[in-house]
Amino acid sequence: MKFYYHLPKILLLLFLLAIGIGTTRQDLNEAWGFYGHKRINRMAVFTLPPEMIGFYKKHIEYITDHAVDPDKRRYATKHEAVRHYIDIDHWGEFPYDMVPRDFTDALVRYTDFYVISEEKDTMHLFGDKVVEITPNYIRMKKDGVKAFLGRDSFDFPYDEYRAFFKKNIQANYYEDDWKVDGEVINKFFKKYKPKVKAKKAFAIDRFSPYGICPYNLPVVQKRLTDAFIEEDKNKILRLSAEIGHYIGDAHVPLHTTENYNGQLTNQVGIHGFWESRLPELFADKEYNFFVGKAEYIENPNDYYWDVVMESHSHLDSVLLIEKRLSETIPRDKQYCYEKRLEATVLTQCKTYARAYHEAMKGMVESRMQASIRSIGSAWFTAWVNAGQPDLKKLKNEELDKAERERLKNEESLFKAGKIKGRSHGN
Ligand SMILES: [Zn+2]
Repeated sequence: MKFYYHLPKILLLLFLLAIGIGTTRQDLNEAWGFYGHKRINRMAVFTLPPEMIGFYKKHIEYITDHAVDPDKRRYATKHEAVRHYIDIDHWGEFPYDMVPRDFTDALVRYTDFYVISEEKDTMHLFGDKVVEITPNYIRMKKDGVKAFLGRDSFDFPYDEYRAFFKKNIQANYYEDDWKVDGEVINKFFKKYKPKVKAKKAFAIDRFSPYGICPYNLPVVQKRLTDAFIEEDKNKILRLSAEIGHYIGDAHVPLHTTENYNGQLTNQVGIHGFWESRLPELFADKEYNFFVGKAEYIENPNDYYWDVVMESHSHLDSVLLIEKRLSETIPRDKQYCYEKRLEATVLTQCKTYARAYHEAMKGMVESRMQASIRSIGSAWFTAWVNAGQPDLKKLKNEELDKAERERLKNEESLFKAGKIKGRSHGN
């Protein structure tokens, strides 16, 4: 094949790279774009029952403006980015039995745990590469167990390791390094008569980097419930805005896959195309945001997993439809220059966007609608579980000093523009 044949493709690629369509994972956590997140949070207010809607309407500007705080916070802590997605297909095939729906179970499975002996031998004891996991036991079966326990394989009681893990390893979740003292190890394994003495141990979390979205949501849900119980107005507002963001993200199919920007299928740029470009073009004029009433969520854990799996079920369509269009519509009809404020940018042409939008038969609209309904339901559920406090009684005071400081700090880190955590997706 001649170089000239590839020239148009190469030029296009250079363009895309130059303007940032070939963007990184870090830029992609802004599901729905700032516009979409704000719109979704705002509309969720109107799903609420009479006892709640007055309070939320009064603070609708806050709920709207702060819909994007979690994205801004990615500049302040490395633990933030992973809350916005889950690369569920990284871990295996549908129906993803290899991804436990309990966070501790997921971490137990995919955290590598090493013990270092006094002779400085490193023994890899736990983690899916060296064990087989069953509901009742973990079969340790590689070199590590041989060196440590002097056996070719050993069936370790699952619950026993899980309890140890939770107390001594998961408890370090927000530390930079996960370390365990040799003494703790020696005591814990004593009854299994290890051949060597442990000097220390450490663990590496291989799970979280691929996203923890459905595990984080019930945590935030619980915090919001507590805020209602405490009748803490600032907390209620902050957490309402934030859970809105995370729920919005969970509704985006491309937030549930390792191929989050089409980079594995030669569709780089599809992330922003689906979640920002389409809503910006069509949401205000064509989408219907009256989505009915908030509903009580019986089991938040299951519920948020269902949301993620539902999003994931649309993934094939998101990718395949764009693929088909990109192969039938000429390249120069796919990308157009458009004026944005002062700059001219290369983006998907309106007609191309229209074709994608129509071929998906309202998928973006219905995911936005589902996000709105879910957010209202999350707020409503937290309020009900808190015993339906009278929101009229909440004092209308200003944000307290700590809250103002926190926002200011996040805002300035956001403006400085350096995200903590990995700088590329994988
Ligand atoms: Zn996000």
